[in-house]
Amino acid sequence: MSSSRGMTPTITGHTKVYGVVGDPVSHSLSPVLWNAAFRSLRIDAVYVPFHVRKERLPEAMKGLSSVGVQGVNVTLPHKQSASELCDTLLPPAEIIGAVNTVRFETSGVLAGANTDALGMCQLFSDVKIDGPVTLLGAGGAAKAILWSLSQRKATMIYWSNRTAIRLVCPMHFSDSLLQTVPWGSIPLKEAMVGSSLIINATSLGWRSEDTLPQLANVLGPQKTYIDLNYNPASRLLAAARASGAKVIDGIELLILQGAASFNFLTHLEPPLNAMRKSMKFLLLEERISG
Ligand code: NAP
Repeated sequence: MSSSRGMTPTITGHTKVYGVVGDPVSHSLSPVLWNAAFRSLRIDAVYVPFHVRKERLPEAMKGLSSVGVQGVNVTLPHKQSASELCDTLLPPAEIIGAVNTVRFETSGVLAGANTDALGMCQLFSDVKIDGPVTLLGAGGAAKAILWSLSQRKATMIYWSNRTAIRLVCPMHFSDSLLQTVPWGSIPLKEAMVGSSLIINATSLGWRSEDTLPQLANVLGPQKTYIDLNYNPASRLLAAARASGAKVIDGIELLILQGAASFNFLTHLEPPLNAMRKSMKFLLLEERISG
């Protein structure tokens, strides 16, 4: 996504630098989100993307820390490797085994946090979880969701992933609370029919041709569908909206995890309204130009 919005800040010798590390990274909306937050609080700081390949992550993190970058968000494919490079981890990053935020402390210490999980907890506070939940996906994001669900005492979690061996839960759930279900199976369809909340934590939806046939006829006005992705052309989101279900797309999580990361890295209260506004404008602009 590109944007004509936002002025280039005046960089001075005092400007603090933050960023996001990923591969790829040019699609990330975090620079828009963070720079809007800095502008709104009139902070002399800038947030930039850093394209870092997998094998260069250790030297990149060391280098960013030693040149005085304050901290970074970490996105695919680095969330797990970054947690191994951290000296301290804010709960629940250690349990999940992945971080999406690293603070470079002046002592050289790398402090990691998983604000995907913290953001998800906040997102769940607005969602009624009064019945079974189906969770799709077994990557870092799905594990952050499992941890958030463990804080909400869900009654039943059906968990499915294309690659079954990845269905290893990093925290304890009793068998009667967490059941794995084969991908693409009839039991998965039945689980989804019986669930009041369905969460897509797979990468499905980023490409406009992506579909999830199991979703057909399982959603409706009584159900909530959360999708971590926010591609405006996602067929999964379109089908969920057409069903009348309550739909929450990945933008809200992006904002909530961004706000939690902002607090972790700057020790300041995040300007949530300015962050939300920046995303609304950006998506509107994309729709107009698209
Ligand atoms: P990840 O660790 O790479 O996991 C990707 C997941 O997607 C795996 O479960 C993978 O299944 C599944 N998958 C990929 N392609 C698939 C396909 N064609 N069919 C079925 N399943 C497929 O990534 P992650 O960090 O967990 O992130 C998952 C998604 O959440 C990503 O799209 C990411 O952009 C999004 N996310 C959004 C936010 C936000 O703020 N909105 C935050 C975090 C993540 P296999 O194990 O079989 O490969």
